[in-house]
Amino acid sequence: MKAITIVGGGLAGLTLGLLLRRKEVPVKLYEAGSYPRHRVCGEYLSGRALRILDSLGLRSKLRSLGAVESRDLVIARGPSTLLLHRLPQPALCLSRFEFDRFLAGEFSCSGGTIETHTRVPTEPMEGTVLATGRQPMKVEKGWRWFGLKAHAHGVTLEAGLEMHLSTHGYVGLCRIEGEQVNVCGLFRSRHPVPDLATSWKRWLCGEPESLLHRRLHQAKWDDSSFSSVAALSLAPRKSSDHTGLRLGDAFTMIPPVTGNGMSMAIEGARLAAGPLEEWSGGRMEWTLAAEKVGRLLDHAFASRLRHARWLQHAMLDPFPQSLAWSLVRWVPGFSSLLFRLTR
Ligand SMILES: Cc1cc2nc3c(=O)[nH]c(=O)nc-3n(C[C@H](O)[C@H](O)[C@H](O)COP(=O)(O)OP(=O)(O)OC[C@H]3O[C@@H](n4cnc5c(N)ncnc54)[C@H](O)[C@@H]3O)c2cc1C
Repeated sequence: MKAITIVGGGLAGLTLGLLLRRKEVPVKLYEAGSYPRHRVCGEYLSGRALRILDSLGLRSKLRSLGAVESRDLVIARGPSTLLLHRLPQPALCLSRFEFDRFLAGEFSCSGGTIETHTRVPTEPMEGTVLATGRQPMKVEKGWRWFGLKAHAHGVTLEAGLEMHLSTHGYVGLCRIEGEQVNVCGLFRSRHPVPDLATSWKRWLCGEPESLLHRRLHQAKWDDSSFSSVAALSLAPRKSSDHTGLRLGDAFTMIPPVTGNGMSMAIEGARLAAGPLEEWSGGRMEWTLAAEKVGRLLDHAFASRLRHARWLQHAMLDPFPQSLAWSLVRWVPGFSSLLFRLTR
């Protein structure tokens, strides 16, 4: 069988590597960084990927690493709770530090080869899958988007996931392994924001009167887990926007408010594995395999990307926000519907 090269060892690249190894396809993966490492992520895995992890026999192993099941959601703004909601489907919460390290180990054990600390060119080539993560964009419609995250101890939550909205963005708090809480914020600014390395706690703790601030008042921060990311591009993309075969955030980002980006990375890997196995076995041309994967990804993600964009406006912009809250308050099942539409 012909070998597949994967560039990027995040969730998309590692899951694809593992799936292909289970079909005996030779795989070489290049990762610019190393394992374990912290990443900016809400660490809240929700959606169809959970079934894929089950089918690979991985969910119970993640539980044994301490992954926490999250069954409810609080949404708050300033000092008040706007919504307490039982989720139609539980999510799984585990740090990316553990998750990526675990998957890299599974991939190696299954016979895959990983070269860490190796950044390779991201040119489209026959046999090469680009799973290199987000495509940076400095400014999008006048906004500069950035994400911050760190773990903390000593934080008591009312629900498995809490989303705290503010004028600059929102902060998600989610229980993860080891009695820790992951604190992860997505923010936007019209101007460059200097000194995030020193001001990150201020951004993550919110306004002094807010519920978020009260929650984090006595937090014991693990400073070594702090990470940040800037130049995020949240505009949806489709296969015709790219050259080459791309998966995960390299294909498209979904607004993080959905907590569905990791699932899309894993789902995309599952969709790509079949055509790639066919190419490897000499039963399909590379261009056909790449086109087929693109079509499958477009079909699987188009609708949820559309709804996610709307949800993102509803979280951040005043008019859609008040409309969304009226619907949540007065239309029974509306929040569950939104949850389903973005998964
Ligand atoms: C603020 C924020 C909060 C989020 N919260 C959540 C959440 O709660 N739930 C959820 O499901 N999703 C969330 N996401 C989204 C989620 O983190 C991503 O969708 C997911 O990590 C995508 O996985 P990936 O494998 O495509 O990319 P990544 O995880 O970014 O991995 C890409 C890898 O490629 C490597 N790489 C890049 N270029 C090269 C190169 N040239 N050569 C070799 N290696 C290279 C990088 O080092 C990296 O390891 C959030 C995102 C943000 C920004």
